[in-house]
Amino acid sequence: MDKPIVEIDGDEMARVMWHWVKEKLIEPYVDLKTEYYDLHIKVRDETNDEITIRAAEAIKRLGVGVKCATITPNADRVKEYNLKREWRSPNATIREVLDGTLFRAPIIVSNIKPAVRFWTKPIVVARHAFGDIYSGTGLRVEEPGEAYIVYKGASGREYKIRIGSLPSAGVIQAYYNLDKSIYSFARAVFKYATMFNLNVWFAAKETISKVYDARFKEIFQEVYEKEFKEEFTKRGLKYEYYLIDDAYSRAIRSEGGFVWATKNYDGDVISDMVASAYSGSLAMMTSELLSPEGYYMAEAAHGTVQRHYYRYLKGEKTSTNPTAIIFAWSRGLRRRGELDNNSELVRFSELLEKAVIKTIEIDRIMTQDIAKVSEPPVNLVASTEEFIEAVRKNLEHMVSH
Ligand code: NAP
Ligand code: MG
Repeated sequence: MDKPIVEIDGDEMARVMWHWVKEKLIEPYVDLKTEYYDLHIKVRDETNDEITIRAAEAIKRLGVGVKCATITPNADRVKEYNLKREWRSPNATIREVLDGTLFRAPIIVSNIKPAVRFWTKPIVVARHAFGDIYSGTGLRVEEPGEAYIVYKGASGREYKIRIGSLPSAGVIQAYYNLDKSIYSFARAVFKYATMFNLNVWFAAKETISKVYDARFKEIFQEVYEKEFKEEFTKRGLKYEYYLIDDAYSRAIRSEGGFVWATKNYDGDVISDMVASAYSGSLAMMTSELLSPEGYYMAEAAHGTVQRHYYRYLKGEKTSTNPTAIIFAWSRGLRRRGELDNNSELVRFSELLEKAVIKTIEIDRIMTQDIAKVSEPPVNLVASTEEFIEAVRKNLEHMVSH
């Protein structure tokens, strides 16, 4: 490796697995260079969360990061770790600094059948994680009246539009989005699609939402035509706009193989549905962050696996699935390799993924979470360490052939 990648450490069982994976599957095979940021909850607390900002800035400088799951503190965690306060989610902070979009992609193995039998290729859900109802506001009214939206422009100009009249008590809601954020989102989506050779779907309801959703549709079309159409045509990729209800039913009948760009709420709902439909386990999903400038960070979709960690602390051997963590590393290394024209590194990352797939598909060695949903036979329900060792054996063989 010439340039380092940013390595962001985290908490609990995910942290334990992070180091096992690094020591057993990465360091023996790659002359690994990382710039290390420890986001352990106590370090975030000691640095007043500065460490998170520094880690995100490092990704801007080096282009590529890999991240372990981190605790997002709530009241219980404040007590458990004796924290100064409930620090915000590191993922939200990093996403904000990078202006990034989150892509959730399934890791597909043939002996775990998706709930939808047509799906053979990944459906990658890209969620626009800004605005709409998540930063909207609501009003409950107790009497009849008239509802308006009033916008006071910075220039002093006032815009006022009538929503409607309410004949009796009811509820009202208002929310917004920003052109800038929608442009960034669209660019990140098309960029990701060209990186992984996937078609793009975007879906909304502009026939009903004639201003709001129509603006999303317009921006996607503009970014596609001006900035990505040529590249898409060259690669034989397609961009399709659908009405959201049409998209749902098409997705079920499709074979997969596309990035589904979703508005904030749709992404919230669809990403959990697609994750469960693919394998029933978040441990078989990666989560990638890509910014419009191409800054990239890979992590597992699951959290710190707290319950397993407490068992681990008691000295038990847990059967926690490290697959998504291994893929976070492989995706990060692959991106580094692509950016630096380091074909050896790209090849290693591909072999690492193949070694995992072979362990589950051919050796039928797997952790308990997927043993439960896989087609028989299962040869071994492995502990985390046994699983990593089985992957290492396959990798060793592949690397030396
Ligand atoms: P979680 O860590 O994803 O775990 C939820 C449950 O899913 C586990 O108890 C386990 O079920 C199963 N699971 C998740 N990952 C697994 C794996 N690799 N192998 C096997 N089973 C797995 O979510 P959580 O318990 O809601 O959150 C725990 C902590 O993680 C929280 O502090 C939260 O803030 C944090 N979190 C961080 C991120 C992130 O950094 N990206 C994302 C989500 C949550 P069983 O116990 O039934 O086996
Ligand atoms: Mg959700």
